[in-house]
Amino acid sequence: MPDAPHQTVTRFAPSPNGQLHLGHAYAAIVAHDLAVERGGRFLLRIEDIDGPRSRAELAQAFREDLGWLGLAYEEVPPQSQRLDSYIVAANQLREAGLLYPCTCTRTEIAEAATRMGPDGPVYPGTCKHRRPDPEREAAWRLDVEAATARTGPLTWTDEIAGEQQAEPERLGDVVLVRKDLPASYHLAATLDDAADGITLVARGADLFHATHIHRLLQALLDLPVPTWHHHELLLDESGSKLAKRRGSPSLTDRREAGEDGGALAESLRRGALPAGISLGRP
Ligand code: GLU
Ligand code: ZN
Repeated sequence: MPDAPHQTVTRFAPSPNGQLHLGHAYAAIVAHDLAVERGGRFLLRIEDIDGPRSRAELAQAFREDLGWLGLAYEEVPPQSQRLDSYIVAANQLREAGLLYPCTCTRTEIAEAATRMGPDGPVYPGTCKHRRPDPEREAAWRLDVEAATARTGPLTWTDEIAGEQQAEPERLGDVVLVRKDLPASYHLAATLDDAADGITLVARGADLFHATHIHRLLQALLDLPVPTWHHHELLLDESGSKLAKRRGSPSLTDRREAGEDGGALAESLRRGALPAGISLGRP
């Protein structure tokens, strides 16, 4: 019997540590429209795991910004309400012998690293075979070699780029439990997408490589495997991902100045971009 057709569920998952800009608007529109075109659901998840850097008033502004763009959404609980689920999963991986403590500083890692990965220097595995210094705070890293030995080869599918072999070693032994938090982005986002029933992870192409790790985590934690849609990003004049530029208005600034958000969303959909901004892959 064929599988029951599933309803498409997408999400927009902003972190409330800065105002949203045009790049975020584009990401939210893509995720929203993919769901709507397929008769599915579009969720908003506030990624406020980073406690001290997260600001409740920004999360509130995000909700208003989405409404102003004309994007209807259902909101699911923010990451700050899901910490227990991160602890449970990390314990499971730790008990399976797939995590090891790492007390290295950023500087130590940068000095010892022998290769660059998509997110900077790849962790050289310094702490994998040494006893951690009990005086220093430890993060917990995924032992990618042990993990892939357990899962065997994995594949994942991006709607645009097609079928991919999972190559988590590209990112190396990433941190899953931070020194200061019960999860890193990789662990939290993977667990949340499963808990929220996300079937299509629509997000920017800057996170394409992260998916290699997320796919591995899904296999280790027995989570459902969505499809991905890594869309193009808004790029600035120098071809880098658009960030909040000095002097460039945020979505909230535009909204408060009385600009028509629905019209802005329409022009982004048509690819009518402000001068100096283009769509592409960084
Ligand atoms: N919270 C992440 C960000 O603001 C998004 C993560 C994701 O879409 O997986 O960039
Ligand atoms: Zn280390």
